[in-house]
Amino acid sequence: MALRVTVWNEARHEKTNPAVQKVYPNGMHTVIAQALTEQGFDTRTATLDEPEHGLTEDVLASTDVLIWWGHMAHGDVQDAIVDRVHKRVLEGMGLVVLHSGHFSRIFKKLMGTSCDLKWREADDNERIWVVNPTHPIAEGLGECIELEYEEMYGEHFDIPAPDSLVFVSWFKGGEVFRSGCCYERGRGKIFYFRPGHETYPTYYNKEVQKVIGNAVKWTGAPAGVNLTYGNRKPIQKSG
Ligand code: ZN
Repeated sequence: MALRVTVWNEARHEKTNPAVQKVYPNGMHTVIAQALTEQGFDTRTATLDEPEHGLTEDVLASTDVLIWWGHMAHGDVQDAIVDRVHKRVLEGMGLVVLHSGHFSRIFKKLMGTSCDLKWREADDNERIWVVNPTHPIAEGLGECIELEYEEMYGEHFDIPAPDSLVFVSWFKGGEVFRSGCCYERGRGKIFYFRPGHETYPTYYNKEVQKVIGNAVKWTGAPAGVNLTYGNRKPIQKSG
């Protein structure tokens, strides 16, 4: 059965900024969802301004991987929805956090750090180097992905050391950044992927689309046994 993916987008820049409307007339989520549908995933979208941000109990219960793009309205995401997504991640739902989602409430809650970084909007070019060639998220890629124009994100990136680091980015201005970071939390797998500033056509890039698809496969893979917790009698009788 195809993995069930929900692409969540705040979708506010697209409504208010003509420069973003020009690049993503129907929203970033539709471009990402289309690319994932073409890769064979069972894909749907959800946005901030829908009831319950489009992330009802039913939607999350039938989502194997949630993709998250947010920026200007992180503070508008309700506590109850953050807690609901957090619970599903610990239960085993995959989570792929894109670009400015580094400051989303769900990512900060899962990381436990400020998730702060350096940034600059100045048309830097970016090279995203594969530093872990055996990782499934790097499957089918070359040595590096080149993006002609992107926003710069620079170290230090205040995250816990990734369980696995797949990509490191270099920018024209001289900065570097850990741009592909894997985490495991409970039964859930999380992947943070850096590129995707709203004024650049990054999500039309085939290699970027490939990475997001690979990340869906990796974060959506069944994760181990069903876990139970709490007080317990001994399994083995003594004597
Ligand atoms: Zn940005």
